Amino acid sequence: MHRQPIFAFHYAPGEETVFVVASISDEPGTLALLLKTLSNQVNLIATSSYTLGNDMAVFSGYGRVLSKKTTAASLREHIEKTSKVSTCQVWMSEKGLIVDRYHTGYEGGIGEPYVIFPAKGISETFEGMVRVFGTGGSTLLYRRGLDYAKTRSGLYKKIIGPHPETRVQELAAIVSALGYGGSTATFDPEYSALTLTAKECFECSSGSEEKRTCSFLRGMAAGIFGPLFGVEIVSEEAKCRNLGDAYCEFVLKAKDGLPLVRKS
Ligand SMILES: [Zn+2]
Repeated sequence: MHRQPIFAFHYAPGEETVFVVASISDEPGTLALLLKTLSNQVNLIATSSYTLGNDMAVFSGYGRVLSKKTTAASLREHIEKTSKVSTCQVWMSEKGLIVDRYHTGYEGGIGEPYVIFPAKGISETFEGMVRVFGTGGSTLLYRRGLDYAKTRSGLYKKIIGPHPETRVQELAAIVSALGYGGSTATFDPEYSALTLTAKECFECSSGSEEKRTCSFLRGMAAGIFGPLFGVEIVSEEAKCRNLGDAYCEFVLKAKDGLPLVRKS
């Protein structure tokens, strides 16, 4: 697994760090110039930049200050002297903690807002539901995963196109990139079953005293692929880390026993 760090905040006790955000022109070379200017005063830890679509772009970054004399005001003045930088804000760390005071959340690939929540936190939340409601809790999680994915089926149809059977690897890559688990998708030669795997799946990341399996993801898989293939799906979790397997595996089949992919 290659996990990308999220820098909503950065904690480095004993270090003097800064958070910088600058509004810059998105002409070629502007970012390189800004990075060069910054490198005189700051050792960068993490940066991000994106275009706003109106010839402007936003740069933000965390860094360690190289000199104890650097203040938020002096660094800001230094950066604003760079050509093509229109405005700039700088914050200094307090007792090793520095927070992104500019951004208010994250966006997915199509502009949707996301929240960031620890994987183990969700896993433990699901565990609590199953502890209280037993198998009814697992059924509820399955239904919620199914219904949630079904409401998004129009979106998946749009981005995946009319032949989803040729693009299941891309769907698995999206699931992996979003952090649900390192995923693969494989059809059998007759297209009668689609096998999905998830390594380090978020849903069982906290372990389970209740021997709970990954019902939410099992429901999501049925809710995503059912509308894409235009069939009612039966989704089974054949393997789960909570049952002692090395990874989770879901097997999807059509409810009527016919192939998942049909000639229309
Ligand atoms: Zn599982």
